[in-house]
Amino acid sequence: LPTAAPGQTPVRVMTIAGSDSGGGAGIQADLRTFALLGLHGTVALTAATVQNSLGVTGFHEIPPEVVAAQVRSVVSDIGVSAAKTGMLASAPIITAVTEVCTELGIGGNGAIPLVVDPVCASMHGDRLLALEALDTLRERLFPIATVVTPNLDEVRLLTGVEVTDPASQRDAARALYDLGPKWVLVKGGHLRSSAQSPDLLFDGSEFGEFTHERIDTGHDHGAGDTLAAATVCALAHGYPVPDAITFAKRWVTCGLQAAYPLGAGHGPVNPLW
Ligand code: PLP
Repeated sequence: LPTAAPGQTPVRVMTIAGSDSGGGAGIQADLRTFALLGLHGTVALTAATVQNSLGVTGFHEIPPEVVAAQVRSVVSDIGVSAAKTGMLASAPIITAVTEVCTELGIGGNGAIPLVVDPVCASMHGDRLLALEALDTLRERLFPIATVVTPNLDEVRLLTGVEVTDPASQRDAARALYDLGPKWVLVKGGHLRSSAQSPDLLFDGSEFGEFTHERIDTGHDHGAGDTLAAATVCALAHGYPVPDAITFAKRWVTCGLQAAYPLGAGHGPVNPLW
């Protein structure tokens, strides 16, 4: 991606997401990717998780009106060219985020692309979104998303479709598309039966496949966040969605290849170009 000359203001992007105290996922992963790619990252914090390499033991939610106020404050002064959502924790936060994004032209038919990474749980199975918030996610936020990027566990929670092969992955993409986003990326990294990590992109008419050999590092904490963050960076530079996904897939693949051990559990992806 192009970078600003020293002293020049870089392209600005925003993450609306939770903090990972272990520094691997969440806003920490997003800001790492934004900075490494030469963009200026801004944050609307939704929750502070209590987390290390072994898992999430709790989280504290930010009041919904404070989440919305962070977005409004940044956009009115610093500006954003693209944004993403990650952990949103609760239905009231999802509602506040949907309303402030609509007000500011983020997502929907506005000029600012919005990547919705529908974070529901950590890789250890710790819940990061209240179950009763799934309806709000589907009914409020999905219709204004430029692209949604669920993994297969999130696909099952959101659509009831159990993806086991290419045909069911297409069914899942259609079901998600019917919820209103402009594009759907069904990430296949959790398809354990495959030696590949097949991601499927759908815009309501055509399917695009992005496949890479599975990289089993044991250290892939924050991989989903990193993919969505790199997508936001490419969209902010004006890439069309398929090109942004191609770029982001390469970025996260490099991150998996350079992932490192940390603590006694799972280490983070380490994006290096
Ligand atoms: N913690 C936060 C704040 C996150 O946003 C996420 C994922 O988006 C996670 C933890 C879980 O990451 P992983 O599934 O890579 O463990």
